[in-house]
Amino acid sequence: MSYKLFIPGPIAVSDKTLHAMAQGMIGHRSTDFVALYNAIQPSLQGLFYTKDPVYLSTSSAWGVMEGALRNVVKKKVLNCMNGAFSDKWYDVALRCGKQATALKAEWGQPVDPEAVRRELATGAYDAITLIHNETSCGCMSDLPALMAVIREFPDVISIIDTVSSFSVVPIKKDELGIDVIITGSQKALALPPGLALFSVSKRALERAATVADRGYYFDFVEFQKNHEAGMTPSTPTIALIYALKSKLEDIAAEGVEARYARHARLNKTVRDHILAKGFTLFPRDGYGSVALNCFANNLGYDLAALNKTLKNKHHLVIDGGYGKLKGKTFRISNMGDETDATIAAMLAAFDSALAECPKVAAA
Ligand SMILES: *Cc1c(COP(=O)(O)O)cnc(C)c1O
Repeated sequence: MSYKLFIPGPIAVSDKTLHAMAQGMIGHRSTDFVALYNAIQPSLQGLFYTKDPVYLSTSSAWGVMEGALRNVVKKKVLNCMNGAFSDKWYDVALRCGKQATALKAEWGQPVDPEAVRRELATGAYDAITLIHNETSCGCMSDLPALMAVIREFPDVISIIDTVSSFSVVPIKKDELGIDVIITGSQKALALPPGLALFSVSKRALERAATVADRGYYFDFVEFQKNHEAGMTPSTPTIALIYALKSKLEDIAAEGVEARYARHARLNKTVRDHILAKGFTLFPRDGYGSVALNCFANNLGYDLAALNKTLKNKHHLVIDGGYGKLKGKTFRISNMGDETDATIAAMLAAFDSALAECPKVAAA
């Protein structure tokens, strides 16, 4: 059975993208691959707003999220936590044997720039991780304000997860002074999962070169060395790179500003529609994500039943809450290729499914 994904990743992949993947393979050390790799660099650098190279990792985003810790943390990392993914990043730091401090906020609260400043001012840290858009609770922190604070501490390497906000809103890597920026293929780029894209500042590369146990697969120095030859360290997911090239052409054809505007408009369409039904937004007022909406299930609907109807009758699925928020929130993505028409159809299906949905409890 086929159905359309409105969960916040993976999201629906267009037929054009799927067809782009179905091309013959080329050797990853061939001139054809070098041409492919080099052809997409300028548009990738444009989307990242950077003069630094953009590396392609055959992994999901977590590979590079873990790899970044192994490449740059020598002293201690500050892990800013306000949802499932950022909470896990702290755990990953510990599992990598790194000294780490958890800077905790409630799920749905943004990362607080003042709290970051207080911690970094102790001088204990040489790196910080934070997630721009905490997908688990639909909370988008104020990245320019946070980067302004982090820039006050020149020894601190910033590792920023933009997995679900990249290409949704402009994130100007060089202007903001981001050292390591990471995204993944299956979120707003609307590609299948399996490819992570990241860019690293010169000073972060220099730090990496001094770290002895940074491993191999995610070694930033290896990525840079191979980049200079128009290649990746190991055999990449060539089919996904074909898909990426096709998607970059789509983005250029639409115009990146038009794309940002479309995401903002569709996000508001969904938010206004669902709020009008009496639901409330889960994240703190003013920090709702532009890539998705996370609503509180304050009306107490049986979200599993709702999603079952959506899937069986309307051939689409939304998300019924991540981790400890399962059943308590629901999330609807507006990333990727959605249009006014596809969002309107999804909302009509939502209304129809809600009308026959039982309630479980008054929340
Ligand atoms: C999806 C997501 C991840 C995890 O990505 P994987 O592709 O599963 O590794 C990390 N951070 C954020 C913010 C995400 O939305």
